[in-house]
Amino acid sequence: MNLILLGPPGAGKGTQAKRLEDKHNLRQISTGDMLRAEVKAGSEIGLQAKAVMDRGELVPDEIIISMLAQRVDVASSGAGGFILDGFPRTVRQAEALDAMLGLKNTPLHHVIELQVDDAALVERISGRFTCAKCGEGYHDRFKRPAVADTCDNCGCHEFVRRSDDNAETVRARLEAYHRQTAPLLPYYAANGLLRVVDGMAEMDAVTEQLETVIAGRQGLGGGTGPGQA
Ligand code: ADP
Ligand code: ADP
Ligand code: ZN
Repeated sequence: MNLILLGPPGAGKGTQAKRLEDKHNLRQISTGDMLRAEVKAGSEIGLQAKAVMDRGELVPDEIIISMLAQRVDVASSGAGGFILDGFPRTVRQAEALDAMLGLKNTPLHHVIELQVDDAALVERISGRFTCAKCGEGYHDRFKRPAVADTCDNCGCHEFVRRSDDNAETVRARLEAYHRQTAPLLPYYAANGLLRVVDGMAEMDAVTEQLETVIAGRQGLGGGTGPGQA
């Protein structure tokens, strides 16, 4: 089963992708994580992407598309499918993805929009931090480690915050979402792939809604969704 999680920054895509990954043997493909790895490695792509990311703008389509092409291949082999998190973000990326998948005869089963109000996103993003070792996601208010300063998942005591997770940059990222990414909603509605989930709900409730979509019991957004792989 191959999924796209769509939604503004902070909507909960990463959080939910990790949960679905484990439960359904899917591979999460996060272009944001890939870019941050490039930045950390100091690669050519990383050098180009860093300033753009810190401004809260989108990295050029060509860079993203070539970076992703290799990943979808890897993900489709082995795992039971992929979850795209943070890609596509423009109609051009969506068209490139369609072309890539078409060549490989790989179907897309659901494009799921996590709907969250802009006001809630600012709070989600400002409070976000992750475990430096295993990448487990946390939030100052909504998901603190069970034992203070200790990762629930790996016991590590070191946490990191993203340099672009600040109130200033968030505004630019939300604007980029509404202007460049939101046009994907009608694009996938027209394909009959779009499903809508209330991302304002609590994490577990969002997961339940996603499970319902995956199980094929709900098909908002028009059309009959294709079955599971
Ligand atoms: P995205 O990948 O869409 O940018 P994340 O999954 O990183 O978003 O979530 C952003 C922040 O909000 C994280 O700190 C996460 O712990 C928190 N979060 C995720 N889902 C919810 C939710 N349903 N309710 C409250 N906080 C959430
Ligand atoms: P979030 O879900 O919190 O917005 P991501 O980790 O998905 O964050 O992305 C972080 C940044 O990386 C974006 O603001 C953008 O600069 C860049 N980026 C990630 N994915 C893409 C993409 N598909 N196209 C263009 N830029 C991207
Ligand atoms: Zn950890």
